[in-house]
Amino acid sequence: MADERAEIGVFGGSGFYSLLENAREVWIETPYGAPSDRVALGEIAGRKVAFLPRHGKDHRFPPQTINYRANLWAMKELGVTRIIAPTACGSLKKEVEPGHMVVADQVVDRTTGRHDTFYDGPITTHVSFADPYCPQLRPVASTALRSIGVTTHDTGTIVVIQGPRFSTRAESKWFQDAGWEVINMTQYPECYLARELEICYVNISLITDYDVGLAGAQPVTHEDVLKVFASNNERVKQAIYKIVEAMPTERTCGCGSALSGAR
Ligand SMILES: [Zn+2]
Repeated sequence: MADERAEIGVFGGSGFYSLLENAREVWIETPYGAPSDRVALGEIAGRKVAFLPRHGKDHRFPPQTINYRANLWAMKELGVTRIIAPTACGSLKKEVEPGHMVVADQVVDRTTGRHDTFYDGPITTHVSFADPYCPQLRPVASTALRSIGVTTHDTGTIVVIQGPRFSTRAESKWFQDAGWEVINMTQYPECYLARELEICYVNISLITDYDVGLAGAQPVTHEDVLKVFASNNERVKQAIYKIVEAMPTERTCGCGSALSGAR
């Protein structure tokens, strides 16, 4: 058990296995049921990293059926204190182009019925979530992305829809009119549950398409998304490597004490 520990967690697609050196897989039981898959433990740039494909290895869990609590709990069990979370996303703004990456700083929850807390009582716990993403890791991610030549947006708001359906034109226009940049189906409650466990969390949104409400945009298909994601997979892997490599060992943010004052 002793070496079944990791410092950094990555949620992502199955393309990331090849990043891990000396990898082996462990099955983690959680009080919330089974995580999406076994967790792969290995090293990147000399740091201990745990990798979990959030949709399962064979992509059997669509966004609305992912057991987010079990996935986060598994990371916590392994000792993870920082999570890097790449996601495939749609753009709600013309200047946020397919192939760009956004290091999100805000999130809007439009999901429904998902288990989004570890604190169902008896102790009432209200966790501050004004700033959902780790302020220490966001600039680290931006710098890493630029260093490999990715057009990077340092801020952006992600609206998270329930799925599995895509938005109507009216819904998409509404989100666009609100001034938000990115649309996705998995960021919530993943990002919030990390905060409840006092884990730092940083998102990298890989833009795969323009959402349907943008003037002139064709309705997005799952095939389009997969195509852009596949062609960018190598860049996302490079980005993860760079972020891990550059991640300061000491935490200077407040994420690690998110529960103090919450009760
Ligand atoms: Zn943090």
